[in-house]
Formats: sequence, structure tokens, C-alpha cells
Amino acid sequence: MTDNLQLDIFGNLVPVEEAKTGKQAETIKSRYRKMYGYDEAHRCEECEHLVTVAEEPVHYKCELIGLAASEATDIRLSDISCSRFQQKAQKEEEPYEGPF
Ligand code: SF4
Repeated sequence: MTDNLQLDIFGNLVPVEEAKTGKQAETIKSRYRKMYGYDEAHRCEECEHLVTVAEEPVHYKCELIGLAASEATDIRLSDISCSRFQQKAQKEEEPYEGPF
């Protein structure tokens, strides 16, 4: 028996039955992390490559994955980092110059 196939949004041929079961498609983000691997010690929130592309509602993207409008490239702050993680530079404390 041969499976009936159809193209998914990434251009991959997947069995039609798989699409009917509602099995969640792999996102660009998950594909990227599979390619580069995970860094369980960090979260995307701490990464230099995390950018905010919209306010209200806030959308976070990874500048290495891409800034496409697609939800498939959205990043959650709590996402486990990939191996391309780079620690975000710490903001230096401003010296207090108040009246006290
Ligand atoms: S940890 Fe990886 S996926 Fe997350 S923002 Fe940094 S480079 Fe992008």
C-alpha cells in the first residue's frame, strides 16, 4: 500500500493521514534547534540574538532564525536555548545622582 502524500508548508512530502490526525507540524524554530542542538543551561530570554519585533502583543524573534511575520518563528522567553546562544550583555548600573 502506498501513502497518499501532500506538501506541507516547508515543502516536505507528508502522508495525508498524518495531516488529518492533526499531528502538529514542525516549526521553523524546532527545526533550527534540531539542526544546532540545545543548550539546557540557558533560556532564549538571556540571549543576545533575541529581538522584540512588535509591542501589544509583544512578539519575540531570533535574529539568527529570521524575523519573518510567521508565528512559526516566534520565540518564547522561556524557550530552552540552542547551541548558538550568546549571553546578552549586562546593563551597567547608572550611578545614583538623586537628592539623597
Ligand atoms: S538561544 Fe538560539 S534560538 Fe534562542 S534567541 Fe539565541 S540564537 Fe536564537
